[in-house]
Amino acid sequence: MNKIFLSLGTNLGDKEANLETALLLLSEKVEILKKSSHYETEPVGYKYQPWFLNMVIEGETELCAKDTLLFIKTIENKMKRVKIVINGPRIIDIDILIFGNEKIETENLTVPHPRMLLRAFVMVPLFEIAPDIEISGRKIKDIIGNLEGEKICKRN
Ligand code: ADP
Ligand code: MG
Repeated sequence: MNKIFLSLGTNLGDKEANLETALLLLSEKVEILKKSSHYETEPVGYKYQPWFLNMVIEGETELCAKDTLLFIKTIENKMKRVKIVINGPRIIDIDILIFGNEKIETENLTVPHPRMLLRAFVMVPLFEIAPDIEISGRKIKDIIGNLEGEKICKRN
């Protein structure tokens, strides 16, 4: 079994429903152990789009990292994600943040996720469910202290 952390984000349509659907589809192959709260977050990069709803989950899976990526892509396709602009609006985006202790750098997959350390919308929900985690040798508390501070707001 592999211990994994995934981030989920959506900013089109019924965002709560999109997260629920993605979790349901994920649960076919990933046992979900912990779920963060949902966070409303300011878009990063391309600003002229709705705010996102983001969350992070901890799970376990029998799949290897490569197959986990393929599985995630299948879910994104099932939910009809269409990519129009880089960093633009999407029904669902699922990223692999951490995959066990693995360090992967291939054309299609980089783990730990290379941009996660800079993103409040990933680090804040991750801190909620894994406050003691270290990423590439750095404590999550220290990483969060150094973030730029895009706006992020916890939902009840
Ligand atoms: P982004 O998540 O950066 O907004 P996409 O979801 O369209 O954009 O992902 C682009 C590509 O990033 C994917 O096709 C995938 O092959 C690659 N990728 C590399 N590392 C990862 C990772 N850790 N998790 C998810 N996708 C990744
Ligand atoms: Mg992605």
